[in-house]
Amino acid sequence: MAYSYEAPVSQTLFDRASLVTPGGVNSPVRAFRAVGGTPRFMVSGTGPYLTDADGREYVDLVCSWGPMILGHAHPEVIAAVQDAVARGTSFGTPGEGEVALAEEIVARIEPVEQVRLVSSGTEATMSAIRLARGFTGRAKVVKFAGCYHGHVDALLASAGSGVATFGLPDTPGVTGAQAGDTIVLPYNDLEAVRAAFAAQPGEIACVITEASPGNMGVVPPLDGFNAGLKEICAADGALYISDEVMTGFRTSKAGWYGIDGVRPDLMTFGKVMGGGFPAAAFGGRADVMAHLAPAGPVYQAGTLSGNPVATAAGLAQLRLLDDVAYAKVDAVSAELRSLVGEAFTKEGVAHTVSAASNMFSVFFTDEPVRDYEGARKQEAFRFTAFFHSMLEQGVYLPPSAFESWFVSTAHDARALERIAAALPAAARAASEATA
Ligand code: PLP
Repeated sequence: MAYSYEAPVSQTLFDRASLVTPGGVNSPVRAFRAVGGTPRFMVSGTGPYLTDADGREYVDLVCSWGPMILGHAHPEVIAAVQDAVARGTSFGTPGEGEVALAEEIVARIEPVEQVRLVSSGTEATMSAIRLARGFTGRAKVVKFAGCYHGHVDALLASAGSGVATFGLPDTPGVTGAQAGDTIVLPYNDLEAVRAAFAAQPGEIACVITEASPGNMGVVPPLDGFNAGLKEICAADGALYISDEVMTGFRTSKAGWYGIDGVRPDLMTFGKVMGGGFPAAAFGGRADVMAHLAPAGPVYQAGTLSGNPVATAAGLAQLRLLDDVAYAKVDAVSAELRSLVGEAFTKEGVAHTVSAASNMFSVFFTDEPVRDYEGARKQEAFRFTAFFHSMLEQGVYLPPSAFESWFVSTAHDARALERIAAALPAAARAASEATA
């Protein structure tokens, strides 16, 4: 595909980056491989806008893959960061900021009685799985195809996100021993879960699921799916782990738990809770968390865990996220979904706008999508044409058909108008695209 617009400074930076960094990026989906073209190197962000190294401004619908729910450079978050950073950047000791952030999480999410702070979502899920295994004394882990839980060895089998984007079945470097205890099941299929438990009673340590998946595109759980998982786990003595790294503090004040009310044994968080800094967490039942070092025998640690700058940013962001803020994000998302749907309908493009609270994505199919297999059946080539038309017109979408779009409280009428103005031509490009 030829592109009618250029990004010479980004191209030069990408060429430099490619010499010193594999693929020129520090996280695969940023490389634009699924859509082609030059990844944009961003230099600044304000509210709903990003500016690239060539000086072009975009309405941002990625929001750093979820964290920037108040938009970029929110003045109160920046002030909290400046205040913290002026007092030093890391002490390697306990500090009040991490206590306050833990208290905020525990206050918001009722099943979380205790929480441990870490630095990435990957660390959170890896540690939660270890804890579940240590607590139950069992080895096996159930996960679902298309769910992504970070690049944890045991959880990369049939993962979503970049693994879905690149169509990788698995990844080299994960040994049979590391993946051998992972059971991958189709999403939204309780019968498959019941069958797996029936085949190996007393052997499964935990079921881990995205609370509402956003890494195969947005595919919400069917009614009763999460409740069914919880019930099956409880009956067998396994733990139910809800991965809320993406949904946590985004889909509601109490994340997806605030929507479906199914009480997990353990939960994982990241993204929004770090305010754009590396902060993540896992937590849950106090009796399970009591097994974690130094209270218990399951080891887990981190030099930068509970970092004072990251916790200050996260706390400032969470404190600004009240009911009014969530109502705003939900309203922006609803308006955008209807604009996107109208544009595709007008051009006769088969599509489904799939939403879970304010997270959503577009599948280029009119069949309902309820699992990874369904997501992969879409005409993803249409996304490529749509993506580039939007980019050219100054709207920055996730560079893959298998990722959620994210909005923020900062997406105002002007930002929405810019998106609305770009949609007709982009929908036409999608309709004219060929495989
Ligand atoms: N879990 C989910 C549901 C995610 O979406 C992600 C990242 O996108 C992770 C875990 C991993 O988080 P991180 O990229 O911070 O390691």
